[in-house]
Amino acid sequence: MIHIEPKEPGPGWDNWKKDAHEETQKLIDDANNGKKLKFKDRIWRNLKPFLENLFHKKCAYCEGIYEGGAWMDVEHFRPKGKVTVDHNPGNTVKITNPAGKEIDHPGYYWLAYDWRNLLLSCNKCNRGAGKMNQFPVAGIRSCCHEDSLEVEEPLLLNPYHEKHPGDHIKFALNGVISGRTEKGRETIKICNLNREELQTVRQREWEKVKMGLFFKLIGEDNRKLVTDDMEYSAYIRESLKSLVKKLEEDLEERI
Ligand SMILES: [Zn+2]
Repeated sequence: MIHIEPKEPGPGWDNWKKDAHEETQKLIDDANNGKKLKFKDRIWRNLKPFLENLFHKKCAYCEGIYEGGAWMDVEHFRPKGKVTVDHNPGNTVKITNPAGKEIDHPGYYWLAYDWRNLLLSCNKCNRGAGKMNQFPVAGIRSCCHEDSLEVEEPLLLNPYHEKHPGDHIKFALNGVISGRTEKGRETIKICNLNREELQTVRQREWEKVKMGLFFKLIGEDNRKLVTDDMEYSAYIRESLKSLVKKLEEDLEERI
């Protein structure tokens, strides 16, 4: 994860905001009247090109790029329709209503079209063994549009809010990541950020960069590295060339 500066784009944005604002008001009215909430896909569809630009077409959680866009979702940081405690859709977060009755948390419906609650996410981080409707918090949880979000302390990293996500997540050179903080550990668990395929691609990308640096150092102009006044310079130069060739072949095999 990297920090993403939340920025409102230019032309055309006002129309989207107006639409989102009107539909949000309808959701709040329906919630107040006890009606079943219906969400409008078009709002998220219309926001997606903006999010793709803001997130460099990468998943907010794993940073993977899934070409074609088909595998990317507009993800609700705070889930819109229900909240669960784990991957099981039946294990809903319970709250107590004003009448003292225990009910399911309705989800953060009032943030369904709030662009600051919407991230670009691959469906591996977002669906299935990924986040789904999970949203852990420490302490008090907001339950309706009248509640302040300030009271909540999410245990999930948000790229808009975290200036330094690396303070929470530690990367090992073998592609495995671990949490430095509870928030980091929860984010890894919830979004399944240590899935095997991710470890493999992280390692692969690192190998490419590492080899690129190495080739740059010894491959392009080894006369700087091995000078003519060095003893046995011809032999050392040839050995370096052979080493570069072998590393290039190894890298090709791995990629
Ligand atoms: Zn992802």
